[in-house]
Amino acid sequence: MGKFPVADAEISRTKICRKCKGRNSFGAVKCRRCGYSFLRPKNKVVKRKK
Ligand SMILES: [Zn+2]
Repeated sequence: MGKFPVADAEISRTKICRKCKGRNSFGAVKCRRCGYSFLRPKNKVVKRKK
């Protein structure tokens, strides 16, 4: 989980298009920008910088 619980909740409700990396709502079946149907949930784990 990240620093901000509100942001986490928002991020976990987002899906990212594999093609154009556009944001879509979690319930989206297709990308609203390009129509591509392969969406992935946004990465919840934030990698820390050293
Ligand atoms: Zn797209």
